[in-house]
Amino acid sequence: MRTLTVPSTTPATTAPVSPGRQALDSALFQLDQAADRLNLDDSLRAVLATPRRSLTVSVPVRREDGRMDVVQGFRVQHNITRGPAKGGIRFHPRTDVHEVTALAMGMTWKCALAGIPYGGAQGGVSVDPASLSARELERVTRRYVNEVLPIVGPERDVPAPEVGTDRRTMAWIMDTYSVNAGYPVPGVMTGGSAACGGAPERAEATSRGVRFAALRAMRGSPGGRTVAVQGFGKVGAPAARHLADAGALVVAVSDSTGAVVNRSGLDVDGLRAWSKETGGVRGYPEADPLSHDDLLELDVDVLVPAALEGAITEENAPRIRAGLIVEGASCPTTPEADRILADAGVTVVPDILANAGGVIVSYLEWLQEAQARSWSAREVDARLRGLVENAFDTVAAVSAECGITLRQAAHVIGVGRVAEAHRSRGL
Ligand code: GLU
Repeated sequence: MRTLTVPSTTPATTAPVSPGRQALDSALFQLDQAADRLNLDDSLRAVLATPRRSLTVSVPVRREDGRMDVVQGFRVQHNITRGPAKGGIRFHPRTDVHEVTALAMGMTWKCALAGIPYGGAQGGVSVDPASLSARELERVTRRYVNEVLPIVGPERDVPAPEVGTDRRTMAWIMDTYSVNAGYPVPGVMTGGSAACGGAPERAEATSRGVRFAALRAMRGSPGGRTVAVQGFGKVGAPAARHLADAGALVVAVSDSTGAVVNRSGLDVDGLRAWSKETGGVRGYPEADPLSHDDLLELDVDVLVPAALEGAITEENAPRIRAGLIVEGASCPTTPEADRILADAGVTVVPDILANAGGVIVSYLEWLQEAQARSWSAREVDARLRGLVENAFDTVAAVSAECGITLRQAAHVIGVGRVAEAHRSRGL
């Protein structure tokens, strides 16, 4: 019999791996390490390594000039064993299904670590919100919600703001969902405006959590410690403010427009006002310009990566001089970089611990709604602080007891709790 030889379609050079794929590989690596330490069997490993549901949708968007663009949207529910799926929705041109899956997996461990009764999810639309008018953005959001409608809902999967989305996006989500349901469903999202049942504290919740985790890592004495913040957005800017309020000296920050440094300390409020007015930190007159790379490698005590995945790599990790890294962003450090930092004695407070404040306040919002009551901002902050500090102390104890990094300990605890829930439910 003749065999047909099909010409190979593999290109001569392999295409570069997308940042999303890298983030997913890192997430799987961390899961694997934790599974080894927990002695999980192969079937449970397989369950935890794959999302429970993964939906990819096409989102047609009518542009102002009448053109029709089609962008991709995703909603991935990684795990729902401990409770309804929970996680943000990202609008970013780089977003792909791998990135969304990695972030959904991180949400599962994050919720388990914080001790809140949610599973993990993440959504995303591969679009640059800055390139859309407000009406186009609203159309994208509503269409995306209609497409993922069958799998979201207050008891199933509850979205929240993430990179590129905010309380306005959440209000559109709540409205679209409610119109479909035929009655108001404020519990379909968290982090909306107060008028839609959102907790006002949610907007700064992630950065408050970063502050509490950072202070715990500094044993409560931040006085005079120098800080560099990568990313001056929803998490980085308020985190800089809170760390400065706590007595630290924020000397450098960066955003997509550039980076600035002032060794005597930046006026964080002045910089926020400048950034709001001019569209970024670049050109801030009370500081010197700096390159993005130099910011990460600055001689400071604390580095807060609060931008996107893959900021700290094996390439720049050997040059990092901060003794403490507090991850405001999700997955900012690659596993190779992690190893280099651990060998160099750098303490890394991992994302699923350092940035858990957002989903913790989402949970507090949900609790208030369920009980038809509202707590004062002070009470919400006290509960947030308690949950972050408690998670930090548990992670620090496991890290010390087992001689592993804080990231490894956080994953052992998070993965262990989810594995336990699987076993007790008999899945
Ligand atoms: N991904 C976001 C975070 O980790 C949103 C979480 C949520 O409130 O559902 O902060």
